[in-house]
Amino acid sequence: MAMNAEGKVTVPRFREDCLLSKGIDVKDLVEVRREAVLYVQPCASERGKLMADIELTEKADFPFIDPATLCSLLEIHRRRFAEVKCSEKLGVAKLKWGGREISIFRNGKMKIQQAIDRAEIMRVANSVSRLIWGAAICDVCGQPVINCASERCGRCALPERVAVDPSGVPGSELLQQGYAALANAGRSPPAESRSWLQRAKFLALHFVMETPRKDDALLGLVLLGEAERAESGLMAK
Ligand SMILES: [Zn+2]
Ligand SMILES: [Zn+2]
Repeated sequence: MAMNAEGKVTVPRFREDCLLSKGIDVKDLVEVRREAVLYVQPCASERGKLMADIELTEKADFPFIDPATLCSLLEIHRRRFAEVKCSEKLGVAKLKWGGREISIFRNGKMKIQQAIDRAEIMRVANSVSRLIWGAAICDVCGQPVINCASERCGRCALPERVAVDPSGVPGSELLQQGYAALANAGRSPPAESRSWLQRAKFLALHFVMETPRKDDALLGLVLLGEAERAESGLMAK
C-alpha cells in the first residue's frame, strides 16, 4: 500500500467491533459514561492546578494496554516530550509534556497532573489516548491495535479495500510526508532506509494525534503498521 499518483491511499476496511474502528478517544468515552471516565480534583502538590484520573476502559482489572507496544510508541515520539519513562515489566509509563505530568497504566487508567483547567485536561487526554491507541488491546483478536492496522493479527481487516483521498483531512500533510518517507525507505540502502522508516513512523503517529476525526486517524495507524512491517523486513535481512 502506497500513496498513488492522485494522492489516494488504499487501505483495508476493518471489522466494526475492532478497536481500530471503535477508537479510544476520551471525548467519545466521556459522552457515553461521563462520571466513570473522568475524575478531576485539585492537585495535591501545586495550588491552583488540577489533576485528573481517566479510565479508558470499563474493565479496570483487565490488561488493556500492551506494555511493549506502549513503550515502543512513546519511543517514536520521545523527542516531543520533556521526559519519558516506560517500564514494560511494570506496565507503567510516565511522561512530561508541555508542563503536564502524564501517567499511563496497563489497565487503561491514565493520570494527568498539573493541568490548568478542564479544557486542557480534555485536550491532553485526547492527544494521549491517540498516542497510545496502537497499544490498546483489541477484543476481536486479543492483540494490540497496531497489529490490527498492519493486518498482522489476521482477524480484524476485511478482504475489502477502499481508496481514500486524505487531501482534505486536517493534518493530511503529515500523512503525505509519511507516505513519501516510506517510499524513500523502499528505494534506499538499509542504513538510510532505517532512518526513513523512523521518519515515516514519527509522521504517521503525529498525524494520528493531530487529526480530529478518529476515522481519519486510523489511516495514520495503517501507515505506522506498514512502516513497522517494512522495518521488521529489514531486520530479517
Ligand atoms: Zn482489532
Ligand atoms: Zn486484530
